[in-house]
Amino acid sequence: MESPTSFLLTLTLAILALSLPTSSQTIQDKFYQCITLNSELSIPFSTAFSAPDNASFTALLESSAQNLRCLVSAVPKPELIFTPYTENHVQVAVTCAKDLGVQLRVRSGGHDYEGLSYISTAANEPFIVLDLSRLRAVTVDLKNNSAWAQAGATVGELYYRISQRSKTHGYAAGLCPSLGVGGHITGGAYGTMMRKYGLGADNVIDARIVVADGRILDRESMGEDLFWAIRGGGGASFGVILAWKVKLVPVPETVTVFTVPKTLEQGATQILYKWQHIADNIDDDLFVRVIIQPAKTTGKDERTSIPTLPLMKQSEEKSMMH
Ligand SMILES: Cc1cc2nc3c(=O)[nH]c(=O)nc-3n(C[C@H](O)[C@H](O)[C@H](O)COP(=O)(O)OP(=O)(O)OC[C@H]3O[C@@H](n4cnc5c(N)ncnc54)[C@H](O)[C@@H]3O)c2cc1C
Repeated sequence: MESPTSFLLTLTLAILALSLPTSSQTIQDKFYQCITLNSELSIPFSTAFSAPDNASFTALLESSAQNLRCLVSAVPKPELIFTPYTENHVQVAVTCAKDLGVQLRVRSGGHDYEGLSYISTAANEPFIVLDLSRLRAVTVDLKNNSAWAQAGATVGELYYRISQRSKTHGYAAGLCPSLGVGGHITGGAYGTMMRKYGLGADNVIDARIVVADGRILDRESMGEDLFWAIRGGGGASFGVILAWKVKLVPVPETVTVFTVPKTLEQGATQILYKWQHIADNIDDDLFVRVIIQPAKTTGKDERTSIPTLPLMKQSEEKSMMH
């Protein structure tokens, strides 16, 4: 609940913004004014909006950004980071950005390889980052084998919430626990259970999305074409995903994980070569991934390469790979 002081501050800032002549207003002023006037709930200014002159701006911008090249000073920074508290704030942000003609970059977990959720895609165009990190609730419904996860939740949080309710339910998505549910599923979402259950996007039952005119649509109201497109076509092309409803899949209570490191000298190349020829015949309960890393050879300064094969076996009964 917002305190009376913060409400007064919000109101005062809104009145101040309104009283400025439009021409002298910055994008921040105009966006803030538009959001404040159109939101169902007033927004605490100090925590929901962060401009470059704000002390917390850099920390917030960098908080989930994974591509450090996109954070160097030569890369243009957003005019504002807006961190909505409610779904309605997202709706209003979309319509305000459209009315003001300013680019909105949507960020859930910040793991975009090219930093597309926190850089401008058009040179010298001002943009605002819509950071969904406050919208991260997860609700698990074991009776119906499903869970709703808001876009700002990480996949790690989703897995954890499921595991709190059941040791034999899971969701088939990515490996890195800090991936944002919002952006991750829009791009497919491959992970340890993909051989058995497919991608994260294959295991989505419903979604809530804010489209360009500010409406919130679910699977029924958006129709099957859009529902298909957002599961692999990149969500930001079509709107802002608010939440995904995902299907839970059965998992064994015990999972065995082991790593097999092999150097080039130990025949790593041959193993990899052979693996390519038999991989599709291996049990679906076994997930194998290869990480190729440079490493020092023992006692020498030369470097070698170590493909390590972290293997995950999903069922105790099935045979192991040799
Ligand atoms: C360290 C690391 C590990 C990874 N591991 C895996 C893996 O195991 N499996 C796998 O499949 N992929 C993996 N990826 C790739 C990752 O899934 C994609 O980059 C994914 O898009 C990240 O989603 P995000 O929400 O974290 O990122 P963000 O940077 O927030 O978003 C990514 C893209 O989606 C858009 N977007 C974000 N949120 C929304 C939303 N709510 N609505 C609409 N559009 C939105 C953004 O604008 C941006 O274009 C990995 C990436 C990294 C950096």
